[in-house]
Amino acid sequence: MTDMSRGAAYLNGEFMPLAEARIPVTHWGYRRSDVTYDVVGVRDGAFFRLEDHLRRFRASMTRLRMAPPESDDRIRAILHRVVALSGLRDAYVAMDCLRASPAPGAPRHPAYAPSYLMCYAVPWVWVASPEMIDRGMHLMIPKVRRIPPESFDPRVKNFHWGDLTEGQFEALDAGADFAVLLDGAGNVTEGPGFNVFCVIGGVVATPATGALDGITRASVMELCAELGLPLELRDIPAEEFRAADEIFGCTTAGGIMPAARIDGRRMNNDAPGPVSTALKDLFWKKRATGWHATPVDYAAAG
Ligand code: PLP
Repeated sequence: MTDMSRGAAYLNGEFMPLAEARIPVTHWGYRRSDVTYDVVGVRDGAFFRLEDHLRRFRASMTRLRMAPPESDDRIRAILHRVVALSGLRDAYVAMDCLRASPAPGAPRHPAYAPSYLMCYAVPWVWVASPEMIDRGMHLMIPKVRRIPPESFDPRVKNFHWGDLTEGQFEALDAGADFAVLLDGAGNVTEGPGFNVFCVIGGVVATPATGALDGITRASVMELCAELGLPLELRDIPAEEFRAADEIFGCTTAGGIMPAARIDGRRMNNDAPGPVSTALKDLFWKKRATGWHATPVDYAAAG
């Protein structure tokens, strides 16, 4: 059997090693970032919140008027199969829906470009390294602002990363790990691949709008309820964020990621704060006991 431990993919109805999955460079998924995607994590042989990711992926496709031939049941089965083919117990599992290009002679309009599905599983990827998460991320607020929701809905997971990428170069120049971008009104939105929270006087807060409705963010909300922590969904102005007692990010590929610095200011003696740490520890403790877990059907490889 072919070794797919470095990645297994599904494209055009077929399963293959990831290195063999190719899309035409003329497709609008590539040339116009006309694509939506989702990423679900597999740890210890089980998906985390698989149904939530499938639901969000379908909502994103519908919002972009994309309708690949595969049903949600079929996509679920494909995700099991790519992980099973890879044999990975810890995997980063992507589902992308791309628009092709209109057939020759058809109008140059996206309505004439069919959409199609591409899925893959690769070894687990960390947004922030485990060492960075342990010491606390160094965050900064860059000059570049997040694309306004009026221009592209950030709740549709997308590849319009020009702003986030520029933010990362500003972070590099400032000696920070990650940028957290503001919206046009000066309120905090999100970082490159993660949602953000802050803790002020024991109250946990996260932006109500302007960011992806992260699935890890939803998990953090559940954990806040479990720990009896008050939680607010609201606008968070930059000044308030810069002065917060604690800040943390969260994402599928990293879980809960405490920060130790914001714009050079050291929080909690330059270390992760107690609330962030309690949430992070509870998150992984519950994950280890099967919280929101769906075991991968490894027999699907056969
Ligand atoms: N915000 C952005 C821009 C992202 O790309 C991601 C994940 O990749 C997140 C937030 C976190 O979302 P989730 O917790 O669903 O992985």
